[in-house]
Amino acid sequence: MRIARFSSGDDYKFAIVEGEPGNEQLAVVTGDPLFTPSRRTGEVVPLHPGGGSRGAEDVRLLAPVIPRSKVVGVGRNYADHAKELGNEVPAEPLLFFKPNTSVVGPGDPIDLPPQSQNVHYEGELAIVIGAPLVKNVPPEKVPDVVFGYTCANDVTARDLQKTDGQWARAKGFDTFCPIGPYIVTGMPPADLRLVTRVNDQVVQDGRTADLIHDVPAIVSYISQAFTLLAGDIILTGTPAGVGPLVHGDRVEVELEGVGVLENIAVRRHG
Ligand code: ZN
Repeated sequence: MRIARFSSGDDYKFAIVEGEPGNEQLAVVTGDPLFTPSRRTGEVVPLHPGGGSRGAEDVRLLAPVIPRSKVVGVGRNYADHAKELGNEVPAEPLLFFKPNTSVVGPGDPIDLPPQSQNVHYEGELAIVIGAPLVKNVPPEKVPDVVFGYTCANDVTARDLQKTDGQWARAKGFDTFCPIGPYIVTGMPPADLRLVTRVNDQVVQDGRTADLIHDVPAIVSYISQAFTLLAGDIILTGTPAGVGPLVHGDRVEVELEGVGVLENIAVRRHG
């Protein structure tokens, strides 16, 4: 099942996404499916303007999960990416946080901040936690605590990542965590194609089968350290091919089975 969140006037609604890419319909549900068993309300909204229904122009997809708590990232989790930046592959998952305020949705701008001259895209598979409290979960139980999967862009100020030592600022600017467009439930994440394009040019092309630490290992490892809450987001790492974004670049992260997350980089300061 594909789940979206979209703006509706001054509010937002959750919906089940139906139909083929380019012709999707949003079947509105009650409540937030992450927390409550949702029912269809009967309202169906075409996602794309010009679908013949009033109000379609007002529909804008939002980040499909409301980031109430935390985003946990895993660094250097594809061997070819660790190598391209001259790093060793870590024996255990290398964890960092992104603040929940860095999360934006599909179509939102990525703000290139004045503090950095080298902001990189990182296309990634994102895990959305569904269980209310996840602590010390063994790898074989991880599918039970995952709500679903989506695309993420782990935007990173590469220069600040080096000079700061700690990654909090480099990974944590506002807009540095686009996610979406949908959360897909019931999908095995073990071998999905993950492609990043900048201005229609393929810059990353990997498979989640090449993750050094796979989804069960990552979630289990993180839960040994701290409690994961429903709605927490885990970014699983990026394959080789990272590179800079400049003003006006259109970056797309496409995950097989999920869809395309598209954002445009904007530099508002000189
Ligand atoms: Zn990353």
